[in-house]
Amino acid sequence: MNLHLSPQDATETTPAPPAGTALFKSRHPETIALHGGSYRFDPTSGAVAVPIYQSTSFQLPGTEGADKLFALEAPGHLYTRVSNPTQDAFEQRLAEIEGGAAALALSSGQAASAFAVLNLARAGDNIVSSVGIYGGTWALFAATLKNFGIETRFVDPTDPEAFARATDDKTRAYYAESLPNPKLEVFPIAEVASIGRRFGIPLIVDNTAAPLIIRPFEHGAAIVVYSTTKYIGGHGTSIGGAIIESGTFPFASYPKRLPTLHDPDPSYQGATWLEKAEKIGFFAYILRARAVLLRDLGAAISPQNAFQFLQGLETLPLRLAQHNRNAEIVADYLKGHPKVSNVIFPKFQIGEAKANAEKYLKPGNFGALVGFELKDGREAGRRFIDALQLFYHVANIGDARSLAIHPSTTTHSQLSAEDQLATGVTPGYVRLSIGLEHPDDIVADLEQAIEAA
Ligand code: PLP
Repeated sequence: MNLHLSPQDATETTPAPPAGTALFKSRHPETIALHGGSYRFDPTSGAVAVPIYQSTSFQLPGTEGADKLFALEAPGHLYTRVSNPTQDAFEQRLAEIEGGAAALALSSGQAASAFAVLNLARAGDNIVSSVGIYGGTWALFAATLKNFGIETRFVDPTDPEAFARATDDKTRAYYAESLPNPKLEVFPIAEVASIGRRFGIPLIVDNTAAPLIIRPFEHGAAIVVYSTTKYIGGHGTSIGGAIIESGTFPFASYPKRLPTLHDPDPSYQGATWLEKAEKIGFFAYILRARAVLLRDLGAAISPQNAFQFLQGLETLPLRLAQHNRNAEIVADYLKGHPKVSNVIFPKFQIGEAKANAEKYLKPGNFGALVGFELKDGREAGRRFIDALQLFYHVANIGDARSLAIHPSTTTHSQLSAEDQLATGVTPGYVRLSIGLEHPDDIVADLEQAIEAA
């Protein structure tokens, strides 16, 4: 595996500029998206784009070098289940654009959420999670992790102190989404992160819906999770995920609270992950996630998909700006429509939700998800979906194309009417993920479909 002291450090195995050539460093996402990390060009061919290293395994140095690699004492790649140069270049660039220290790319967003928690919690432990999370994450926490012996205590994100009240000696992490749908109310990151720091509990934030426009690390989050399937890939072609460590959470200060990082690991000759990380100048959380969970559970990203996400990252700042502009045009249009009873969009929120939107969203950006309710309810929602010509009817977000779904009869159809309402899904609710088409065309399709509803 490749170990980086920080995303800025070149290593022996990631192609780096000739000795003595400094890497240009920027604090601007537009530049980091293209140049972040230590990859500059391929040393054998001079290729500027990161090559797809489609190889399962890598030639080991002599036996002494191999010993060091296996003991995680030297940088280098062994086997693509655990690390790969294309994956490494993507991880470095993603960590840097997020303002984090180190990242681990995975095969899906689901794998990323699971790894983020399993890296801290074991059977008998618990986590506290916001109720405002994606349905797949909910199922993972409420059913699958429960079967592993890890309990999830769900709390209302509008009451940050609920996280403190649900905490006990076995609580290992807090979990939330920065901009959860359907309600699209921004999570109070700083408030919950500071409660976590009182107890030594890291806050994990799924920032899938708001890359670049919400900056969880700047507000105290310890870990960021992405489904890179969405805006980071950006073109609806590839499933992937990632976890990123801020590099600032004081994991070392909480030996009782964080046993996975402090207790000797029998699968690594009784070393603790904090000691191991300190010895090689790396970050314990990501080191363990790769060396233990990825080794054992194997949710590796393919080199081909890591390449696709590098391509996506290059235009992420540009695309996000256009997604956001188009979404605001759509929300403004819907707001005045006589057949629409409600538009769910951060721009139109009031009270605490408005305060959080103003505090956490990059000014003038509200994300690219728009919810709205048709006055005529469930049947109108179905008719609207069937009449769409430009929008795709899919259970996804963050594609370059505009997407729509009627949650009450699809993603949330297994929930009772009461539970649907509790999650914010009314019978006429429609969720839009606004794409990159010309806004006039997006609005024209909505207009004719609402007319038909
Ligand atoms: N997190 C959020 C907010 C999502 O919307 C999704 C998928 O829709 C996931 C995680 C899971 O990601 P993936 O589909 O890449 O496994």
